[in-house]
Amino acid sequence: MAEAKRWNLLNTLFLTGTLALAVVLVPLRVITSGIGWGEALVFLAMTFAIGTAISGGYHRLFSHRAYKASWPVRFVFLCLGAAAFENSALKWSSDHRVHHQHVDTDQDPYAIQHGFWYAHWTWVMEQKALPIHGVADLEKDPLVRWQHRHHFLIGAVVSTIPLWIGLATGNLLGHLVFGVVLRIVVTHHTTFFINSAAHMFGSRPYTDANTARDNWLLAPLTYGEGYHNFHHLWQWDYRNGALWYQWDTTKWLLNVLAWLGLVGQFRRVSDAAMTRARLHMEEKRLRERLLLASPGIATPMHARLAAARQRLDHALAALHDRHEAWSQKKAEWRAKGLAKAEAWREAKAEWEGAMAHHRADLKTAWREWKAARLEVRSALVYA
Ligand SMILES: [Zn+2]
Ligand SMILES: [Zn+2]
Repeated sequence: MAEAKRWNLLNTLFLTGTLALAVVLVPLRVITSGIGWGEALVFLAMTFAIGTAISGGYHRLFSHRAYKASWPVRFVFLCLGAAAFENSALKWSSDHRVHHQHVDTDQDPYAIQHGFWYAHWTWVMEQKALPIHGVADLEKDPLVRWQHRHHFLIGAVVSTIPLWIGLATGNLLGHLVFGVVLRIVVTHHTTFFINSAAHMFGSRPYTDANTARDNWLLAPLTYGEGYHNFHHLWQWDYRNGALWYQWDTTKWLLNVLAWLGLVGQFRRVSDAAMTRARLHMEEKRLRERLLLASPGIATPMHARLAAARQRLDHALAALHDRHEAWSQKKAEWRAKGLAKAEAWREAKAEWEGAMAHHRADLKTAWREWKAARLEVRSALVYA
């Protein structure tokens, strides 16, 4: 017999209560008084700061150790993150590490297999024993331990910032409605979308081993966390939107903090590994489609794909090898203290020439791959 669900009353009341308040108070306030620039700006600043603390702090720093941060950054992320009212960084990271380790199984705390709303927020409302586990590394940090003990109080203090601004500007009610109530609801649901929507809607360019999706529409709403397919494959990468044109405000902010010397040691997957994963998925999908075609069409197309793939793999490997050899050589030259010597400049110029050649070769291989892809797709239309 299925076990009866038990509800966590505090979580349920908090999540549904703040939502109900926002649904009633926000339209009421807009109708009676409109919305001023001050309220809008404070709301946006609080939402962005707290959401970024979840994305850059709770998620990428504490859960995944994707980079190293100085104590002032950890302190600010922990204080702001507490105001998301999504538990302490320690508990959040513990749940999140389990999610990655057991994604899409019964052990996944917010498995999408139980439905959109379960992954979104019902899991938080259910009374489930999810002990803190696998975060011994974080427990060594006194700041993390301090935040774990007082996270609710810290969150409450940070959340009242708009009220102080409201008192100073004589608009307490406006800031209460937008800066506190609406802000809490928006922070909750932008985080929750990653567990629900980003496991249901979007593309899977890097892996189809799990349900995580890349969703460009979610990225601006989630401070850059929308590229969840990339994230599940390389969870330790400090980026989520890894390509230059992908929206990832958290990554951009971390780059600025690195420039200021406040964070560093970013972990990132190589471009070649990303290309290989993408290529593997493209080839897999094309071959799956070819299975439905007649042998007369499928056989030459399989061969066409294999040849283009081999050519591309070769170009990628050559580029990678050249890059590795150069890194090693650079280290040797540095050790010899010859970095400024004439010979060094010549070696560098030679390397740059060789790299340009490999890049051009890779470009040609890509063009050939795209031509093969197009040919297979056209052949499938007539198959
Ligand atoms: Zn996920
Ligand atoms: Zn993650």
